[in-house]
Amino acid sequence: MRTIGVEEHFVTPELAHYSAPAERIAQPAVWKDASRRLLDLTGERLEAMDAAGLDLQVLSLNSPGIQAEPDPRVAVAAARTVNDLLAGTIAAHPDRFAGLAALPLQDPAEAAGELERAVTQLGFSGALVNAHTLGHYLDDPAFRVVWERAEGLDVPLFLHPANGVDIPHVLSGHPELIGPMWSWGPDTASHVLRLVFGGVFDDFPAAKVLVGHMGEALPYVLWRLDSRWGFHHHHDIELARGNPSEYLRHNLYITTSGVCDDPPLLCALLALGADHIVFGTDYPFEDMGTATRFLERAPISPEDQAKIAHGTAERLLRIPTTDPALTGT
Ligand code: ZN
Repeated sequence: MRTIGVEEHFVTPELAHYSAPAERIAQPAVWKDASRRLLDLTGERLEAMDAAGLDLQVLSLNSPGIQAEPDPRVAVAAARTVNDLLAGTIAAHPDRFAGLAALPLQDPAEAAGELERAVTQLGFSGALVNAHTLGHYLDDPAFRVVWERAEGLDVPLFLHPANGVDIPHVLSGHPELIGPMWSWGPDTASHVLRLVFGGVFDDFPAAKVLVGHMGEALPYVLWRLDSRWGFHHHHDIELARGNPSEYLRHNLYITTSGVCDDPPLLCALLALGADHIVFGTDYPFEDMGTATRFLERAPISPEDQAKIAHGTAERLLRIPTTDPALTGT
């Protein structure tokens, strides 16, 4: 079955230094292997895709990318350079790669302009944002210009984890809990909830946010959020659609990346439906073959499997379909 991976990372030699905080978390041998694979775009990567049965990768710059750059002018220039490089790779292999843009969010107006350039001129599928930008989250009013442009272009923003601004007190003394094993998930889920309660989807009802790792546990807690939203003192916040789950069911899309396990997949399917779930592997930090075998063997209907493998991604990310039933040929 045609399979598209939507959380697939790369880096360039010039930008690799931004990943140093993640390097400090990883086991040295694992990081060395991942670093080699991140720098490769069309050699070992294509061989691994063929071996795993992955037809197409939607590529994105590795976390935290240029959002870690303190100088906005450097970030603007770096975004253009890396997006142009990625566009060249996609143009050379249009049947194997698509792209999510890196945005210089240090300057929101420039970020909105780069998103538009990436989508309309480079043919990208949207953009990938790594957590906060110098301490600012995407519900900040300064970023409304980016959401407005994303909604207008009808492309998603992929909200990917990175190290938080600070270390929550509950994690103090436990560095093993900081990183992809635990803290990145709650950090990203909290960021999504900031978008809901910060009114982003009331201002831009058709905006789409995509998150990895089977939805960072959000599909599991929809009922709980609605129930306790009715309990909380609301501090003058109004949700136009009433309950938080209304936003998560309609504006949220998730990838299966980094979670090759049936129970959370079944929960996500029941909570959000296959029209909101795309496949992903989190290459090179996870094994592509483990991920494709997981989807092949998942105890779900062939219709849902086809949507997750490629159908939902083709629709959400404007990837040309090869399915005769959908192309009408
Ligand atoms: Zn990732």
